[in-house]
Amino acid sequence: VRGIYDSSHLQTYRTERRESTVIRVENLSKSFGKLTVLRDVSLHIKKGECVAIIGPSGTGKSVFLSCLNGLMTPDCGKVFIDGDDICDRHTNINKVRSKMGMVYQAFHLFSHLTVMENITLAPRKLLRLSAAEAQTKAEKLLDMVALREKANAMPGELSGGQQQRIAIARAMAMDPQIVLFDEPTSALDPTMVGEVLAAIRTFADKGVTMLIVTHEMEFAREVASRVLYMDENGIYEDGTPEQIFDNPQKPKTKAFIGKLKTLRYEIASKNFDFLQLYTQISLFCQKYRITPKSSHSMQLCTEEAVFYLLNNDLASRIELSLEYSDKNGTVTLSLDYDGPPGNPFDGEEDLGLILLRAKSSQIEYTNDEKGNHLKLNLQTGEK
Ligand code: ADP
Ligand code: MG
Repeated sequence: VRGIYDSSHLQTYRTERRESTVIRVENLSKSFGKLTVLRDVSLHIKKGECVAIIGPSGTGKSVFLSCLNGLMTPDCGKVFIDGDDICDRHTNINKVRSKMGMVYQAFHLFSHLTVMENITLAPRKLLRLSAAEAQTKAEKLLDMVALREKANAMPGELSGGQQQRIAIARAMAMDPQIVLFDEPTSALDPTMVGEVLAAIRTFADKGVTMLIVTHEMEFAREVASRVLYMDENGIYEDGTPEQIFDNPQKPKTKAFIGKLKTLRYEIASKNFDFLQLYTQISLFCQKYRITPKSSHSMQLCTEEAVFYLLNNDLASRIELSLEYSDKNGTVTLSLDYDGPPGNPFDGEEDLGLILLRAKSSQIEYTNDEKGNHLKLNLQTGEK
């Protein structure tokens, strides 16, 4: 009786594994000569999970993806894709790879083939679809990435964002169980990032398991069901987007997340490059989907505060920071500066200060041995 119990238990375990865990990594390590990139990494990913992988560059994110799709062989450890050990000589690696799509930073489309041919090539050859079947499927995918009208275009006639959407459609045409994206928007002009993210989002709901290495944190927060922060040769912290972005637990994750949401700028004279500062503020606002109107108001407030301090000889050096908080959608403008102590808002207020007061939900001034600190909470009107 006990034997039967044990084997049925084992059976359940096997079924459960087969059905839910689609990627299993066990104690994976990878070095290049003396450089250890990954050390003893273990990970289970369930079917349908959408996992964002974030972290500083050089922490092994691309190497990790390459170990998952068999392009790199780990030094030790195991990788199971849908139950198949990809390092085992007896595993048909091509069969395993056909379950996995890959989308890179550079689009790698075949430049001498039309968009339609790019998408239908692999399904015809590898899935043995007829020309008509492959075409019907490609049309559906082109609809999903909103590029049906480009079916007969050559890749060179398309923008970078459009080419990347074709690359995504091409990966999806193989009916992959898993798609690995390695910084799919990093090579794009900022104006094209949104359309590519929108295309990825379309597929995220379709039950395909996705791993996306990305620097687009707002996208990761919105689309991913899980976030892996990579650092120190492995997966340093693993959690839901809320856990990682709002409440990271470990020091390196905290530092990384904190830095992402902050724009710092140093001003050393009245003749500083204010156009560069404005551009940085505008890009910062874009990153957090702050409307152009609020972004403009943010520039204006920064300008008023900085020039008030400089022109009234209250400061000769200013360390400025803008920190976005997604909890309440406010941006905190902090100004740390030298010069005589005194709260600028205490005395008579000129027009600039009146404007700042109107735009701030809170103003805080302190002074200590390091100098003056002014903090203004600016409303973005987003939340
Ligand atoms: P990222 O997290 O930015 O994607 P990578 O995975 O590309 O980082 O690289 C991690 C480290 O491994 C880097 O220091 C990189 O120089 C090194 N590396 C990556 N691929 C190779 C290779 N084929 N040969 C030698 N070193 C490599
Ligand atoms: Mg990389």
